[in-house]
Amino acid sequence: MWKCKKCGEKNEDSFDSCWSCGSSQDGVDPENAEEFKLTKEEVAKSITKHDDTSHYTSTYDTTRIIAACVSFVGWVVVSISVIILLVSLVQSTKSYGGFALMGLFPAFAGIISGLLLVMAGQLTRATVDTADNTGQMLALMKRRKR
Ligand SMILES: [Zn+2]
Repeated sequence: MWKCKKCGEKNEDSFDSCWSCGSSQDGVDPENAEEFKLTKEEVAKSITKHDDTSHYTSTYDTTRIIAACVSFVGWVVVSISVIILLVSLVQSTKSYGGFALMGLFPAFAGIISGLLLVMAGQLTRATVDTADNTGQMLALMKRRKR
């Protein structure tokens, strides 16, 4: 037995959709399912056509800023590490000998952790962008029903 997410009716397991309202087991009714199939181009077209997406405001601005900061810090760490690496290499060829090569290990660690920070920032950006796209799609779908 499964319970319809839309109307709450109980259905036999052998049925894929609700006998009462026609929703599928995950609560999508056939009418909406069709709208979910909108391609990105169609969505973009309708958005520019209606040009009233202003009522969709991103709730992820803070996350976006933090993600940008994390990426920025990541690049700074990478840059500094590269400088330390170069300085260590130059010094190791001079009088310091093998001793300056000690600087290579923290420099490599710095480059790797810096790149990880950049990656984390970009992944967060991507997640937030996807969430925003979904939000815009939903806003668009709601408008179409009016
Ligand atoms: Zn139902």
